[in-house]
Amino acid sequence: MSQAGSAGIPFLDLTDVTEAVREEVLREWAGVLDSRAFVGGGAVARFESRFADLCATTEAIGTANGTDALHLILRALDLGPGDEVVVPANTFVATVEAIVLAGARPRFADVDPDSLLLTPALLEEAITPRTRAVAVVHLYGQMPDVPALRAVTDRHGIALVEDAAQAHGATWAGRPAGSFGVAAAFSFYPGKNLGAFGDAGAVVTSDARLAGRIRAMRDHGRVDGGHHEHGLLGMNSRLDTVQALVLDAKLRRLPEWNSRRRALASAYRALLDPELAPVVAELPGSQGVHHLLVVRVRERDRVRSALAAHGIGTGVHYPTPCHRMAPYAGYAHAPLPVAERAGREVLSLPMYPGLGIAEAERVAALVNESVTRGAVA
Ligand SMILES: *Cc1c(COP(=O)(O)O)cnc(C)c1O
Repeated sequence: MSQAGSAGIPFLDLTDVTEAVREEVLREWAGVLDSRAFVGGGAVARFESRFADLCATTEAIGTANGTDALHLILRALDLGPGDEVVVPANTFVATVEAIVLAGARPRFADVDPDSLLLTPALLEEAITPRTRAVAVVHLYGQMPDVPALRAVTDRHGIALVEDAAQAHGATWAGRPAGSFGVAAAFSFYPGKNLGAFGDAGAVVTSDARLAGRIRAMRDHGRVDGGHHEHGLLGMNSRLDTVQALVLDAKLRRLPEWNSRRRALASAYRALLDPELAPVVAELPGSQGVHHLLVVRVRERDRVRSALAAHGIGTGVHYPTPCHRMAPYAGYAHAPLPVAERAGREVLSLPMYPGLGIAEAERVAALVNESVTRGAVA
């Protein structure tokens, strides 16, 4: 398809991961139309059980999206007004949004300059007597030192919640993302490592009581199996049957897709100049799944334009740390220099299972070249 060396390379291309399941999904979808079970049903329960296995938890609860999954976890923890949840400032806005929607206050933390992830020391610093939980983000699909973070939360008697929206299948010392906290939230937005054909998400947990509450709360607070027993303040955040079918079909391919991402990440690392465009570091215990391949460059916007001129698509995750966004600025309590600098420097390069190794190498060479050119000019 591509003329070697000259064709454009999009930032994200979902062709391969869509075509891989097209026939299977269309076949299963016909079965759903025959059964008319459009919400819930066997397909959802089947996917939930398989996804819980991936995460080494006893339960998974499908939701309408990843933001709701986080929101439901925090609501189920019964946070009250004035209760604080520590959160790294350099995350996707949804992590912070969910904290505020759950009625709590975000307490912004800065991050490690190499991995851009939360550290035990930075967490410890951010904790106050009002802190009830921390939302640990496995940003870009890499894992922070979760056992060490958990030691801090256990010592303070606060809940560790994982935002694993970018980390399906990632592990720390062989143990899967989602299994370290009281509960974890996943997103199946189409561009995520495991993506639906629309919006979808899930909570995973091995706490049966918490799971029961979240299961009820995602379905209008229905308890005890009664259609009209609304025993909890709930919401409607169920997982559609059709999305469960898509996710189930894709789940089988996830290990292969994640190893493809790892191979691409190695190719990028081998070629990108560590002085000019360092790749965001992965900690030794982490076997990440490279949801995004992020480098740091000076004059990021100029480098982006230079790549665009060669037909290379890029992204920025994320230009504005959450404590600088209008709805959340009031919660900022201290300068967060690492998060702010990251916002100016981060650049996300093409990364998806259908990307060729030679294409990644071409992108890496062009990044080196455009950074050097800028330095000389
Ligand atoms: C995608 C994402 C979410 C939100 O998921 P949605 O399904 O889009 O609601 C939350 N946190 C992070 C880190 C994400 O990347």
